[in-house]
Amino acid sequence: MNHRVRRLRAQESTLYSDAMSECIFCKIVEGSLPSHKVFENDDCYAFLDIFPASRGHTLVIPKKHVRDIHEADALTYSKVAAAAKAVADLLAATLGSEGTTVFQMSREAGWQTVFHLHMHVIPRWKDDGLHKPWDIEPANDADLREVLQQITK
Ligand code: 5GP
Ligand code: ZN
Repeated sequence: MNHRVRRLRAQESTLYSDAMSECIFCKIVEGSLPSHKVFENDDCYAFLDIFPASRGHTLVIPKKHVRDIHEADALTYSKVAAAAKAVADLLAATLGSEGTTVFQMSREAGWQTVFHLHMHVIPRWKDDGLHKPWDIEPANDADLREVLQQITK
């Protein structure tokens, strides 16, 4: 390996470990920040959100640092999804919630604010006052065909 490549690799690994050492969710996994644990298995950790949208709002994360859905490999993502399913069932059984909303925000444009992959599991009740964050309007069929063509070409 030449000098330049070695220096770039060193910079890359410093940047990566800096991102992890600054990551509040990594700190929660390692126990250096406190959390209210709801569920844990070998790969995932789940804890109460400190700004809850509803009673029991829980975040499910992979224990290893992965930034978002696009950077996660399919196996890691599927483990988080399976843990979110276990948490959703646990919250429904214990809190008596009437429904569940699961959100996963990725990247700034996707509303992500903490850049360690997580799924929000939000227990729901009919009268909980939450509302969808987008306005619903019927699509124009030409727009649907145009976007589908771009997706599937
Ligand atoms: P995002 O906006 O990235 O989808 O979700 C980040 C979530 O993390 C937010 O709902 C926020 O309330 C939660 N959060 C931010 N900091 C902390 C923290 O230190 N502890 C816990 N438990 N939740 C946090
Ligand atoms: Zn992290």
